[in-house]
Amino acid sequence: MQQTQQTQHAPTPLLQAMGLTGEGKASAVPFTLDDYRRQGGYDALRRALRELSPTQVIEEIRTSGLRGRGGAGYPTGDKLALVASGRSTMRYLICNAYDADARSLISATLLEQNPHLALEGLALASYAAGVSEAFLYVRSARTEAAASAQKAVADALEANLIGRNIMGTAFSLAVTVVGVDRSFMGGEESTLIEIIKGRPMKAQQRPPYPAMQGLYDQPTAVQNVETLANLPAIISHGAGAFRQSGSRATTGTKLLTVIGPGGAQLIEIPFGASVRQALQQAGIDANENNARGVVVGGMEGGVLPLSALDTPFDFDPLAQADAMVGSGMIEVLPVDACMVRWAMERSDYLSEETCGKCVPCRVGVKRIAGTLQGLVSSLGQPDDLKLLEEFSHYVPDGSLCGYGVHAIHPVVSAMRYFGDDFAAHLAGKCPTGTCQPVRAHRFNTKHVL
Ligand code: SF4
Repeated sequence: MQQTQQTQHAPTPLLQAMGLTGEGKASAVPFTLDDYRRQGGYDALRRALRELSPTQVIEEIRTSGLRGRGGAGYPTGDKLALVASGRSTMRYLICNAYDADARSLISATLLEQNPHLALEGLALASYAAGVSEAFLYVRSARTEAAASAQKAVADALEANLIGRNIMGTAFSLAVTVVGVDRSFMGGEESTLIEIIKGRPMKAQQRPPYPAMQGLYDQPTAVQNVETLANLPAIISHGAGAFRQSGSRATTGTKLLTVIGPGGAQLIEIPFGASVRQALQQAGIDANENNARGVVVGGMEGGVLPLSALDTPFDFDPLAQADAMVGSGMIEVLPVDACMVRWAMERSDYLSEETCGKCVPCRVGVKRIAGTLQGLVSSLGQPDDLKLLEEFSHYVPDGSLCGYGVHAIHPVVSAMRYFGDDFAAHLAGKCPTGTCQPVRAHRFNTKHVL
């Protein structure tokens, strides 16, 4: 894979706040509390507590246009306002730093490099929503990130930046680090609430949404850690400054894990920059000599052909292209990748990760994977493509949570953009000559549901 010279398209505030970019600041040394405070850390919280009411903080966040970075893109200010409006006196906030896609670098790097950035964002959101108890939900297998989060909470408590009567004000906030190492579904918002309650790992039907009835049936703001990491800058520099970058629909920047031939790396782009620009930011020139397609969105993401790399990295354009923001991942597939096999492997993985609560997802994704196994094994039937199309509607239409809605992206995007690969396999030939028959495939050709 040809590497291009790395280009700087726009400011990278989050990477800079982690000490990973910026003039003279590039450093892999994690920030201590003192480092963070020397840079103005916790000034936003001080200002909010002393000068702004919770409603004013919410309005500033609303004006900034910040949307959740966890995949759904819900406006952050609106979610906090919903929680604040709950009648209960007990409200919770859960900072989701789990990285459901275990290959993602985003949450773990944030926690390792500058955990106080996340903690200050967590405190600001809690103050705005009237929350008095918050959870920092981390993947315990990421031991350095989990340890860094725990130390940050202890240091912040010692410095009266969380805990009782923060900075001498009436605002108190208890923060607990919850370390969990479960599967992909461990990062789903209703599932993580069940896990914190000590219940089986099953997604829950919505509505009611957690913002109205979440942890212990109380209003609960579940916010992605990257979303919260944006709050200190919004309160310190104002919503207008935040709106300077990003697209009309989605303001600000996005951290991305880019997986190319040189391994995984963390980059940051403004929303609305193209997938091609994101690759260039990572120093990758994907072309027909070195790449077959680019997967956008992580394990549930879709594959784009090279001709679609100018698609803006933003919620709506990616959804229209059968890809997604998802877990913020971009992966380059090699030039000899067979897209039937790729879709089969992803669908197989997703069929194993489902929580199994509802039939369309539990059975449907398995049927998709099984049908693709038959195609890869040159045992496909002409009706298989029709079957795959039927299931790509049936699964999302009948699924309880977003997992089932997005689990069809791999097969749908592969069929949309790489139909010739499917035709070749139906004719008994792998288009890139790389597929071997699947030995223990589920040979599904009949529509029985
Ligand atoms: S859609 Fe899938 S992951 Fe979601 S509740 Fe149903 S079975 Fe579980």
